[in-house]
Amino acid sequence: MLTTDLKPQNSGHQYLPQQTAEQSSLSPNQQLLPLTAKVNSHDCLEIGGCDLSTLVNQFGSPLYILDEYTLRTACKQYREAFIKYYPGQSQVIYASKAWSCMAVCAVIASEGLGFDVVSGGELYTTLQTLEQMGLGDDIATKIYFHGNNKSVTELQFALSVGCTIMVDNWLELETLVKLGANLGEKSVRIMLRLTPGIECHTHEYIRTGHLDNKFGFDPHQLEAVLTYVSEHSIFNCIGIHAHIGSQIFETQPHHDLAGVLVGYLKSAIAKGLPIQELNVGGGLGIRYTEKDDPPAIEEWVKNVATAIVKACEAEQIPLPKLIAEPGRSLIGSACITAYTVGSRKEIPELRTYIAVDGGMSDNPRPITYQSLYRAIIANRMSTPQSETVTIAGKHCESGDILIKDALLPKAEPGDILVVMGTGAYNYSMASNYNRLPRPAAVLVHQGEANLILKRETYEDLLRQDRLPDRLVNLKED
Ligand SMILES: *Cc1c(COP(=O)(O)O)cnc(C)c1O
Repeated sequence: MLTTDLKPQNSGHQYLPQQTAEQSSLSPNQQLLPLTAKVNSHDCLEIGGCDLSTLVNQFGSPLYILDEYTLRTACKQYREAFIKYYPGQSQVIYASKAWSCMAVCAVIASEGLGFDVVSGGELYTTLQTLEQMGLGDDIATKIYFHGNNKSVTELQFALSVGCTIMVDNWLELETLVKLGANLGEKSVRIMLRLTPGIECHTHEYIRTGHLDNKFGFDPHQLEAVLTYVSEHSIFNCIGIHAHIGSQIFETQPHHDLAGVLVGYLKSAIAKGLPIQELNVGGGLGIRYTEKDDPPAIEEWVKNVATAIVKACEAEQIPLPKLIAEPGRSLIGSACITAYTVGSRKEIPELRTYIAVDGGMSDNPRPITYQSLYRAIIANRMSTPQSETVTIAGKHCESGDILIKDALLPKAEPGDILVVMGTGAYNYSMASNYNRLPRPAAVLVHQGEANLILKRETYEDLLRQDRLPDRLVNLKED
């Protein structure tokens, strides 16, 4: 697009949350910016009462800026909606793979949520946090361990900790029977993950509900799995789980899922298994661009809860404890990434590139899933948008593009460019590609900014490096 074709538009303010008396009534996943976003008297974006220029001066860039209020609001909205719409017991658990680090765990644990972990590393991070918080006692009921290929070491770790294991496949069942034999009197608390055979419209890489997919038992094997589990007294099988995918805006798939899962539950109860819980997974989407229109958190919960209640009534089974495990919709909209603008390349009649000081190493979603984002120049919020540019990262890869055709004010070197909606699957997928140190992250709240992840240093990059003796001291004397 030619920059000269563009009519200047009004300011970058259109991305601010609509002002309401009660900010907490806004659903965070429907906003582009965190709920506390505003423009201050210096014409600069402020999040959690902290001025973006000041934050970048103090902590450097790229910088992940996580708004505690927005994260807490999302947690509360999930929790309160389950209480409002589901007459049985419920528990919201955070899919930690969205962003697993101690400070995020701590905020989420303090809101009463549990955790879904998918590796020994995520389990360790969560355990360490809960222990430091003095919450180490409810691990058995608060942590659920997922994964389609858990190692023996990971399973032993999970058993020693006593969290619930979400069994995915036959090998895992057989391994647990062997490992369980050494547990003495204790049983192995498990839930079974099944593929529900439900299609939804999202990127192929993040769809998990359809039958052709690596996760969970195929439903054709339900009878055989239930028989195996009921014949091994080591198992305490407390429930059934399914997750149909991520970044989903439709409500129909989760409505249909309720019926399918309650059907599985009925079969499990008929086999005499001590079923108490039903886990419907996560998957609610967030707004990355103004074109995205996901349902509010409350609406999503209402849809799921009422569908489960109806299905249980129809099948005449008691209401299970209902578990949901959102990741993206809890944390995605609570964080932004601040970059410093650098070089510019203008190709006449074709495209203008603006480069920033990060890229695919701190946000691999565009190159992995062709994900779309929006950006603003945070230090000059009222400057009108006047050109369409492509925002490139600094990696040695032509595909290292954060945003194609972003509408921005004319960006100058040193400007702070903010990409919105980077709380989920950004830091957790970050790499050291090109040996870039991973950025710092700060948690902002009521004018205070706490460093929660230190920026990596060059020494950090060499932490795992070893030089074999025969390759050193080669200088001849
Ligand atoms: C990824 C994942 C989630 C969370 O998905 P979101 O789209 O981030 O809500 C929940 N459960 C399982 C099993 C997952 O793999």
